[in-house]
Amino acid sequence: MDHFLYRDGELYAEDVPIAAIAAQVGTPFYCYSSATLLRHYRLFDDALEGTDHLVCFAMKSASNQAILKLLADAGAGMDVVSGGEYARARAAGVPGDRIVFSGVGKTRDEMRMALTDGIRQFNVESEPEMHALSEVATSLGLTAPITVRINPDVDAKTHEKISTGKKGDKFGIPISRAREVYALAASLPGLQVIGIDVHIGSQLTELEPFELAYQKVAELTEQLRADGHTITRLDLGGGLGIPYTRSNQAPPLPTEYGALIKRTVGHLGCEIEIEPGRLISGNAGIMVSKVIYLKSGEDRDFLILDGAMNDLTRPAMYGAYHDIIPVIEAEPGVDQQPFDIVGPVCESGDTFAKGRMMPPVAAGDLVAFRSAGAYGAVMSSEYNTRPLIPEVLVQDDQFAVIRARPTFDDIIKRDTIPPWL
Ligand SMILES: *Cc1c(COP(=O)(O)O)cnc(C)c1O
Repeated sequence: MDHFLYRDGELYAEDVPIAAIAAQVGTPFYCYSSATLLRHYRLFDDALEGTDHLVCFAMKSASNQAILKLLADAGAGMDVVSGGEYARARAAGVPGDRIVFSGVGKTRDEMRMALTDGIRQFNVESEPEMHALSEVATSLGLTAPITVRINPDVDAKTHEKISTGKKGDKFGIPISRAREVYALAASLPGLQVIGIDVHIGSQLTELEPFELAYQKVAELTEQLRADGHTITRLDLGGGLGIPYTRSNQAPPLPTEYGALIKRTVGHLGCEIEIEPGRLISGNAGIMVSKVIYLKSGEDRDFLILDGAMNDLTRPAMYGAYHDIIPVIEAEPGVDQQPFDIVGPVCESGDTFAKGRMMPPVAAGDLVAFRSAGAYGAVMSSEYNTRPLIPEVLVQDDQFAVIRARPTFDDIIKRDTIPPWL
């Protein structure tokens, strides 16, 4: 459920008409609903009620300062995957002890920054990283709390580019070598082993892969404890999928996911962390774009929008599907017509949908891409020197621009011409 609904034939974000935002900020733009973000965060928080837990928002899915502050004020922690994300989380007021550092290639500079400024734990993904963290922590006279990310070798049954827990993926340490690697961790100075981490992929639409992975984590917990390690925290990753089409069968709910967690690892007495990204932010955001032209091709018609693959990359990058709906609601029963929906960027990859059935649309009309809140704005670029599009946050009947559109001058001034030219 989200808060982008038609009212009297017009699309609203909460109590704000989308057309009113478009009139003020121009198109294209991203628009987020505070109520939806909070609702989704609380679904997870409630699903783990009764267990000691922290929901760490995977901020790589949506990292605007306003979104981070909204969620952090509600009690969320953050899962960060770079020094930049760590800095963003701290700048939004998230305390270090609510920030988890994930990622397969943390640099020593990133480790130093997080250790100095405060960190809940590092999820370590390899032995070389473990040695590096040990050295950095020791040189600072500090101790780094760590989990080791385990690759449980389960098939997440999702898109290959976002599957992360199968043998051959670059992530984590094979579960078969876990005991050896934990023994190494225990022997290195500056590290304190506190738990186990697992994250098997993104946009999972079934619970079974989670179940298999968490059962393996439970077995490993007992084994490591028997080996003498202190395992008090389990980071179970993110990855629960969202419905991208309303006709699709809905993915499992956070309540079912929470019950699964309690069933598989609840008996271990560990503190539970989860790192959902997409399920919190995905359906909490839309991208609004304007039709520039209707163009008739030889065998098809094109709807040319002012939004493009640089603004919303998922269709070009993953072949992802987004519902695209008119901001002025179509009359019921009206004839639909197929369109290839494209942006102005100079490559054919700039196609959002092929043969998509759409109600009558005209140049100047606004359309909204649903489910664009996760991996939307964060993956955008200025390819074709198209300025990063603004982000807008709605709360009840108010809205604010939370990232402004740069001017052409802003963009040009970032380049420097060397003195010899
Ligand atoms: C991407 C990622 C997540 C979030 O995945 P979602 O599918 O957005 O929930 C969580 N943890 C780690 C380590 C990740 O890389």
